[in-house]
Amino acid sequence: MADNEVRIENLTRREFREALERGEYRTAIVPTGAIEQHLEHLPMGHDIATCTAIAEEVARRLYPSVIVAVPMCVGISEHHMIHPGTVTAKPGSWLAVLFDAVESLVRHGIQNVLILNGHGGNEMPVYGMIRQWQLFFGSSHPGSNVQFQSYWNLSREDAEAVCEARVPGHAGEYETSTHYAMFPGNIREDAMRDQEDKQPLDASAEKGEKLVEAAIARTVTYLEEMMAGEHHDVARHVFSAESAPKA
Ligand SMILES: [Zn+2]
Repeated sequence: MADNEVRIENLTRREFREALERGEYRTAIVPTGAIEQHLEHLPMGHDIATCTAIAEEVARRLYPSVIVAVPMCVGISEHHMIHPGTVTAKPGSWLAVLFDAVESLVRHGIQNVLILNGHGGNEMPVYGMIRQWQLFFGSSHPGSNVQFQSYWNLSREDAEAVCEARVPGHAGEYETSTHYAMFPGNIREDAMRDQEDKQPLDASAEKGEKLVEAAIARTVTYLEEMMAGEHHDVARHVFSAESAPKA
């Protein structure tokens, strides 16, 4: 085992149990992504690969407080099914598995869970549910704190200072830059030049390094604040349950 292991599936039950007893790994990141077309030049696993890599680096910087648990490779991608290779889940079944995974972690005494998202199509379904989940966990496991954030939203200000194009877009300047930074040599550059969409050509490794560092740093800060007991509200309220009776 690596000295600073941050993936839950690489630990034995004893290692994890003893770490919990020492008060470690009380915060988890659940990366969510997608397997879907990313134009002609990026691998279809871009979203989950980048999100998981960001989560791992965040956890290493906060070691041994934070564990990365169960990256959700499949996302909600019906809108990309026109391209063969895309693998999608229905929102209801996807949300059910995500909720059960989070609940499993909370039941083991992991107090803070950040669902760190790397795929735009996952956002609205979670925004629709997260407040209900927070109310559930708040009453069933007092003190627990479950949050959902897309990493580009945590670092939006920094990202918009680097990118000309909309952040994050899809396989454009932002995602192609982050891919250059995280997986050098993995972009199909001939295909990138040949395809109709030219926006990815604005991407660079230099931009990507700034974007990735911003995403990591902002996520570290967000988790530190969660561990200090902050962020009990959702990032964006589609519907507020605040008016519900407090009983
Ligand atoms: Zn993407």
